[in-house]
Amino acid sequence: MRVLLVGAPGSGKGTQAARLSEHFGVPHISSGQILREHMSRETPEGKEAAEYVDRGDLVPGEMVQEILHEQVCRAATEGGYILDGFPRTIRQAEFVQLHPAGSDFAVQVAVFLSVSNEELTRRLLSRARGVDDSRAVIEHRLQVFDEHTTPMLEFFERRGELVPVDAAQPVESVTASILQQLATRSPS
Ligand code: AMP
Repeated sequence: MRVLLVGAPGSGKGTQAARLSEHFGVPHISSGQILREHMSRETPEGKEAAEYVDRGDLVPGEMVQEILHEQVCRAATEGGYILDGFPRTIRQAEFVQLHPAGSDFAVQVAVFLSVSNEELTRRLLSRARGVDDSRAVIEHRLQVFDEHTTPMLEFFERRGELVPVDAAQPVESVTASILQQLATRSPS
């Protein structure tokens, strides 16, 4: 099972990715978490990524692709993955879906966790800590999602690979809805 979770900050994509990873026994690959690990180890990639992440901007796509490529390829050959946060733009989606490694590598289903902007802002502010999570940064991250990631949803929709799920529901209900949708779409 090769699934991508798409959702704005605060949509619960990390939580759902972890639950699906456990359910299917495939790795949860979170681009944000891998970037944060690079940042805390102060690797060259981490140092470059920090300024973007701290502002709530997207890190250059090539860097994310380079960091994740091997891990995603390996997972794809070993039974699948739950991708969380990558791909996040049309260009990144093209890299994954039109990759020379072909259809054994590509995302089968892109699950979109749909939550209203009001609810997202409420959730993000309630867990905000310190300057990085200030209202301005939160609003900027939501704007970046609308500008760069919303168009990617259309890319998956045109390919018949998009599954929208109401993610304003409680965590367990969201997982149940995702599993139900996946069961109708995939024999594996
Ligand atoms: P996340 O934990 O998925 O919200 O990611 C945290 C931050 O990491 C984002 O706000 C971006 O700055 C950066 N990031 C994560 N994934 C990507 C990606 N696929 N492309 C560019 N930047 C990313």
